[in-house]
Amino acid sequence: MTDLYRLLPEEMEVMVMELGQPRFRADQILYAMYYKFPENISEIKQLPSTFRDMLVEKGFSIGSTKEVHRIESEDGDTTKLLLGLQDKTPIESVLMQYPSKKLFGHPRSTICVSTQVGCAMRCVFCATGQMGFERNMKAEEILGQVIHFAKILSEKGQHITNIVFMGMGEPLANYSETIRAVKLLTHPRGFGIGQRNITISTIGIISGIDQLAEENLQIGLAISLHAPTDKLRRWLVPTAGANSVKDLINAGQRYFLKTGRRVTFEYALIEGVNDSPEIAEDLALLLRNNGSHVNLIPLNPTAGDFERPTRKNVIEFERILYNSGVNCTVRVEKGTEISAACGQLRTDVLGKYNNKRNQIKK
Ligand code: SAH
Repeated sequence: MTDLYRLLPEEMEVMVMELGQPRFRADQILYAMYYKFPENISEIKQLPSTFRDMLVEKGFSIGSTKEVHRIESEDGDTTKLLLGLQDKTPIESVLMQYPSKKLFGHPRSTICVSTQVGCAMRCVFCATGQMGFERNMKAEEILGQVIHFAKILSEKGQHITNIVFMGMGEPLANYSETIRAVKLLTHPRGFGIGQRNITISTIGIISGIDQLAEENLQIGLAISLHAPTDKLRRWLVPTAGANSVKDLINAGQRYFLKTGRRVTFEYALIEGVNDSPEIAEDLALLLRNNGSHVNLIPLNPTAGDFERPTRKNVIEFERILYNSGVNCTVRVEKGTEISAACGQLRTDVLGKYNNKRNQIKK
């Protein structure tokens, strides 16, 4: 079976011509796939029924993901989908909407996609990290998540404005399928989103970062740093191995120099672990004057005995970075009450352990 969402427009043309069809059939299929979101080939009414039958006979299909579970936050701004892949494996994706600053403007609608079932990186505070690694996802499965949300939004007259690879899994450990997905998503005859509207988040696989810099893409890169010292980072990210904090910062710098895109360092703030003023100062010393940007993510408590810092500590941490000249933002919290942190929904639905969501300290 080949999911049509796997094929790049050029590959679609080769495929239709190999089946004895004129080249324009590819555009008919692509138009339906990216504007009408059909659930199976028989719904592509632009095609002659004989050709639709032929596609099915030759083993083509559409959509290897099916919605299993959907939850919306009370304010309606966050929607989380649990999607079943063809082999029934559940994975999760999230839509986060932010009101537009423009009068009558559409909201910013960011989709957070998964790239692996589970994850091998074992970050101690991350729900996916506790599941272990099951398998890599195919490009068409990564795309399927975006298509599901695109369909939901199109029914409301809205569209996806940003895609972040920050769901389950490590995108750069599934490099070729992640890049194929990016190409399908950004191809003008594919999903057609701007490269600058895509961000890949990585735990810091250095060879992958360097390879990505060579792809000639304008996508954003976020590196999960979480600590200014190797000792602390290796505790939080047990698979960090030989990569030092300095190596990651240098890799980010190379990405910036090659692509011109500023790199974001993600920093999950954990109470009593990496949130002290001294640690903020160490981080500031490392990152100031190198053009990078820090995104502080107050922990969504899911795994282990880790807690979210108080609001006061988060603000103080941010202030120290800011005063030292480091560009810094605190991630807007979205979907805490619907288990929107990486891997949480799947964990809840599968009932693997009791997660501690909603523990917001005042
Ligand atoms: N493997 C990629 C994508 C992971 S999810 C990476 O490591 O970057 C995206 C971000 O969410 C990462 O920075 C990750 O460390 C962070 N994250 C995971 N679980 C979290 C939690 N419970 N609370 C806050 N941030 C979390």
